[in-house]
Amino acid sequence: MRSGFLSLRWQALIALSLILLLVNGALALMAYHQSLAQFELQQSGVRANQVRQLRGLLENNYEEMTRLVSVVRTLGQNAPADTSDGRDFGARLARGLESEGALLGLEWDIRLVLWINPVGVPVLVWPADVQTPDAALFAGLRGADEGVARLFTCRPECLQFLAAPILWEGETGGTLVLGRSLADALLAFNALTGAEVAIFIDAATDSADMSTAVRYPAMTHPSRTEPIIHAIAADLVSAQGGSAGGGQPVLGALGGQWFEVFRVDALAPGISALLVNDVTAERQAIQAATRISILLGLGGLILSGSLLFWVAQSSVGRLQRIAVALPLLADNRYRELRARLPPVGGRLVPKDELDQLSETAQALTDRMELLQRDREEAEARLVWLADHDPLTRLFNRRRFNDDFGRVLDAAMRFGHRGALLFLDLDQFKDVNDLSGHQVGDLMLQRVGDQLGKLAHPSDILARLGGDEFALVLPECNEDAALECAERIQAAVRSIIVREHVRVHRVTASIGIALFPDQGQEAHELLANADLAMFQAKEKGRGRWHLFSADDRAREQADARVTWRDKIAEGLREDRFELHFQPIVDIASGVVQHWEALLRLRDPRGELVYPDRFIPIAEKTGQIRAIDHWVLAQAVTLLGLDPRLRLAINLSGSAMDDDSLLPDVERLLAGHRVLPTRLAFEVTETAAVGSIARATELMQGIRQLGCRFALDDFGTGYASYAYLRKLPVDDVKIDGAFVRDLATNREDRIFVKAITDMAHGMGKRVIAEYVENAEIYAVLSELGVDCAQGYYLGRPAPHAESVEVPRPLALA
Ligand code: C2E
Ligand code: MG
Ligand code: MG
Repeated sequence: MRSGFLSLRWQALIALSLILLLVNGALALMAYHQSLAQFELQQSGVRANQVRQLRGLLENNYEEMTRLVSVVRTLGQNAPADTSDGRDFGARLARGLESEGALLGLEWDIRLVLWINPVGVPVLVWPADVQTPDAALFAGLRGADEGVARLFTCRPECLQFLAAPILWEGETGGTLVLGRSLADALLAFNALTGAEVAIFIDAATDSADMSTAVRYPAMTHPSRTEPIIHAIAADLVSAQGGSAGGGQPVLGALGGQWFEVFRVDALAPGISALLVNDVTAERQAIQAATRISILLGLGGLILSGSLLFWVAQSSVGRLQRIAVALPLLADNRYRELRARLPPVGGRLVPKDELDQLSETAQALTDRMELLQRDREEAEARLVWLADHDPLTRLFNRRRFNDDFGRVLDAAMRFGHRGALLFLDLDQFKDVNDLSGHQVGDLMLQRVGDQLGKLAHPSDILARLGGDEFALVLPECNEDAALECAERIQAAVRSIIVREHVRVHRVTASIGIALFPDQGQEAHELLANADLAMFQAKEKGRGRWHLFSADDRAREQADARVTWRDKIAEGLREDRFELHFQPIVDIASGVVQHWEALLRLRDPRGELVYPDRFIPIAEKTGQIRAIDHWVLAQAVTLLGLDPRLRLAINLSGSAMDDDSLLPDVERLLAGHRVLPTRLAFEVTETAAVGSIARATELMQGIRQLGCRFALDDFGTGYASYAYLRKLPVDDVKIDGAFVRDLATNREDRIFVKAITDMAHGMGKRVIAEYVENAEIYAVLSELGVDCAQGYYLGRPAPHAESVEVPRPLALA
């Protein structure tokens, strides 16, 4: 489970949504407030207008009443004057009111007519059944003595009073008071403005527990207006009266409608009014506009979200495919990886970073696959080389020993008899010397092929080294073994190798040992067959010899004893000499150092090569003396020539030679030679034979400051496994892998693999057997550090400067 995973797509979407939500919310809020402000502005205009109109209406009423006074005072004028009251204005007025007063009520809404005598006593009240106004009212109208007085009261009905003094026969006859109802004025106001009006008595002027009817003495459409005021504007009523225009309006909803109520103060002392406007339409318009802006915002959000999701869909999908595919690289599943990577191009849009990533992943995959293939090939080759001889493709000595051991075990257990045939080519050296190693190699390959054809699948066939082959016949008797030897000899004789004008033929000398009669151990049988082979050679070329117990006795006094003497004599009479072969740094073309190669000059003055005597010296133990001689000789030479740098070869037995290291130290000090000028070479076979001691010696020598090289690397063992363990500075790749480098692809892969591996471990790589310019060029290309071979210089008695050619540039 992918815990805590949130796709990029969602991350972007959430971030975008949050931002858009904030922006849209702010915009909607702003629009809402703007609409409210607009509404408020408009309403304040409406309110001011309504206040003006209400007050104007009241004022208008008074003015009409002023005109009515003139009408009322003339009432009863036309009636026949009776003498008793002809002079009495009050009586005349009473008569007039009686006949035409009803019209006053109907037409002008006059609810009350008072005639007050000059001393302030009401002498006429019309209509008669009306309740006589209280004293407070008279007090309010008293000012009428001087002129017209106005009064507005609501006790209990809202009436506007106008009091005007009447001059009668030249003097003030009294005051005429008209009381007019407000109802019509309010209805007119309502019809004009659409606003409902409620006149109310200020809380401050009256007791708080007034009934509604008393509190609101006049109201338009009470059934509608009253609930609105109670629900929305009760506070406005109880509040103290302020400015003439009233305080802040109150907004509220009732029954799904919106109302704005505001107060108009001081219509008269203690009397104010509430104006109720229905603002439902405006409010709904604002809400609708806000709703639309929110919906538009949400729509935009969904649209942009979907767009983002759609755009990210393909990109994130491709990214995901790459992310899922890349780990396959670690498992070397290249084909699958390629199939999973998103395709590059093929779309209408131009390439983007993900295409680049995909391309890079493709390229990386190709490269990794190539490297993997090369590595696998090199590894397969190394594994194969662990068991095989690369030249003849037969088993090598190591594999032979293993298999032979198993065959012998089985033979002992089951009582089988078998034979070992040990085969050595006669005068094979001539082939090499006359026509070169290439022809020699060809001859060895042909011999290997012929032997392969003769061997049965159950037989063990191997090339033990040089021109030596061995064949084990696991189940056979003496006759069958001899017969096989004959057949081998015939087959070998039939081989013809041509080189220009020369034609080479070879013969094989075969030594035969039978098991278990002539030995039960592999090494014992090999030694016996080897001895038998020498016996065969004594008889002349192309012979075989079956080992017998007498042979061993004869051997004691035979050729090998003389070789021991020859070596002893050589040491005694100082007949050993060193030859020197240059080792060249490929990059600079400068001779890095020289390898000292040992030769023995026989009494006749002929040079004897190390292959002839070193194996014998190793068996007889004389090798130790030889190693010390070579060391002393080399250090002496180094002491004489300060520019010289030398590498000397150590034998396998040097690993057990405790006196070697102190000797090196002593000699270097004695001749004042810098340790860095001396290097040592040990064959891989010798080092791997006793790996612990080899490591110890290598470490000791490197601590002194000398270099150490692993010689003939790559033959016979799973070498690369040891390379890691051995503390060497240089790796000398065996000539067998170098000689055909120009033509053999496998060798090239092998040398490249070894070089890369050694470089990876910080080691320098030297190739031997560099016999021509092509090989030299290939080595340069493969990154090998140094080269040694006949092309660059043959071993010579003196380390003299050589002309080093530059590597060819490869096409
Ligand atoms: P090595 O140490 O691998 O020496 C290289 C051998 O390859 C030398 O043979 C050299 O002459 C030969 N060689 C060099 N370049 C070429 C080339 O381009 N083509 C061919 N075909 N051969 C080339 P050499 O001198 O006969 O020595 C053979 C082996 O004897 C040496 O192999 C080394 O293992 C051993 N050896 C030589 N000198 C001494 C020594 O002083 N002490 C000990 N213990 N062993 C020695
Ligand atoms: Mg060497
Ligand atoms: Mg070598």
